[in-house]
Amino acid sequence: MAKIWSLALHGGAGPIFGRDYAPEEAHIRGLLADGAARLAAGEAALDVVEAMVMELEASGLYVAGRGASPNSAGQWELDAAIMDGRTRRAGAVGALQGFESPIQAARAVMERTPNVLLVGDGAVTLAEEAGLARVVDPQTYYGAVDEDTVQEDMPNMGTVGCVALDLYGDLAAATSTGGVLSKTPGRIGDTPIIGAGTWADERCAVSCTGLGEYFIRANAAADVSARIRYGNQPFERAVHGALDDVKRLGGNGGMIAVSASGDLAWGFNSSGLKRGLADWRGRFEVATFL
Ligand code: ASP
Repeated sequence: MAKIWSLALHGGAGPIFGRDYAPEEAHIRGLLADGAARLAAGEAALDVVEAMVMELEASGLYVAGRGASPNSAGQWELDAAIMDGRTRRAGAVGALQGFESPIQAARAVMERTPNVLLVGDGAVTLAEEAGLARVVDPQTYYGAVDEDTVQEDMPNMGTVGCVALDLYGDLAAATSTGGVLSKTPGRIGDTPIIGAGTWADERCAVSCTGLGEYFIRANAAADVSARIRYGNQPFERAVHGALDDVKRLGGNGGMIAVSASGDLAWGFNSSGLKRGLADWRGRFEVATFL
């Protein structure tokens, strides 16, 4: 068994210059330490990425889970996906209403059904059958919309995600989001589209954040793997190449990624990317802007 592991988390690509992100950074630091300890102790990457994203959702600090913002009809419709690199099994939910943890619902799709993506009533029924925690009163459960973000007239980008390599050489990725602010009812972004916002295979695991339509059109997360596989690009160049393609189409955002050899890479062409990176070599970094 190789003794290497690596972990990266993100809290979205939409930070605003001048705002203090100390609470988010402190939260990411704590989670990173927890996730690092789990991986070092031999926990599976798939379980660690799910656990990390559940904590990010529950914190209310990001535009995902409890911190999600409503769509233009005042409803909270959430997207999430999880993927296992070794088997390429994947699960995702789109526009899910009424459950605390969309990433748990995505895992339930992967574990309990032959499907990859469930939306609408089918997703709700599955989440109920899996016994997942319900949101009883959305008005009080979800946090207030970040007024700074609204005033800046920016899409409220605060997706959360996690990628990991475990001691057994397995890669996994998980992503969860409330989507962009005041989105159209029924709109689904890149997060639950396997290959667009979330991807894991035997080469890399990737989690994206940003203007989802562009990440879908660029098939951004899977493009990192394709650049390595067919273009022989070094891992970090593949990450930046995939992001450059998003930018070329007119989109912005960021991504975190981990390779099969435990290298970590990230990039953004938005104002910042809340993130944390840790590995077996002792790397431990948390940052929001450069
Ligand atoms: N990518 C997400 C979406 O378009 C938004 C975000 O990253 O904040 O739904």
